[in-house]
Parts: sequence; structure tokens; C-alpha cells
Amino acid sequence: MTVLSDLKVPGPTVTQLSDPFWSAAEAGRLHIQCCQACGRHVFYPRPICPHCWADALVWGDVSGMARLKSFSTIWKPGHPGWRPVAPYVVGLAQLAEGPVMLSHILTGDRAPQVGNSLRFAPTQVGARMLPLFELSQGTETQP
Ligand SMILES: [Zn+2]
Repeated sequence: MTVLSDLKVPGPTVTQLSDPFWSAAEAGRLHIQCCQACGRHVFYPRPICPHCWADALVWGDVSGMARLKSFSTIWKPGHPGWRPVAPYVVGLAQLAEGPVMLSHILTGDRAPQVGNSLRFAPTQVGARMLPLFELSQGTETQP
């Protein structure tokens, strides 16, 4: 059985703007932007707040708690490097802080359902530590 750390897959494209996110992920932390003007969290990384247009975004850690908003089971990966672990689940994780993040979802042997509780699960994928999510233990489903 192939594990994610054995994969030969390309890593993320890291830019100057997204580097704090990827560097924190490499250290096992979930780090996103928050607006000092309106207090709302923001993801993906941007130069200005999409809610109030203030140039006041700062980086900080968030809880890592999320809910599965939607998901898809990937049977035929777009990149051949992912084939050894197919089928796998990719989903939208709605963070407790608000933003929605597209992520690989670790499900174990459970069938995911929309509304499942998720938690941040930094995971070695190939040569990189990536910010994945996993179904919480004893996960409950809420609308
Ligand atoms: Zn704002």
C-alpha cells in the first residue's frame, strides 16, 4: 500500500505572497491572513482584504477546525503521481474562522458526508508537508 509520503508529485507553486502560508504548513501550522480593519479572516493569500478593501492583512494561526462543505472522490488523478493512492477525496473545508479551503481530505476507511467535522492534519506528501484535513474522530454531521 502506497502512503502519501512515498508519492512523486509536484509541490505547490510558492509565491512571495503565499510563502507565509506554505512555510507555516511546512512547520505543521495553519496560518492565514486576517484583516485588522474589519476582523475577518481571508484565504487564499491576497494583498488587500476582499471584504473591506483595506490594506491591513496580517498573518496568524487559526484553529484548524473546519466542516466539509463539499467533496469529490478522485478516481482518475490529473497528475500520474497521484495514481498510487487513488481513489482519494478532495473537498472544500470551511474553516471555523470563515474562509473555505480546497484540500485533500483524509478519510481513513470512512465514507465522508457533507457537514462532517474536519480538523487540520499536516501531512507529508512526497517531499513536502502539506496542509491537509482529516475527518474528526466520532465526526458528527451538521447542516
Ligand atoms: Zn477587511
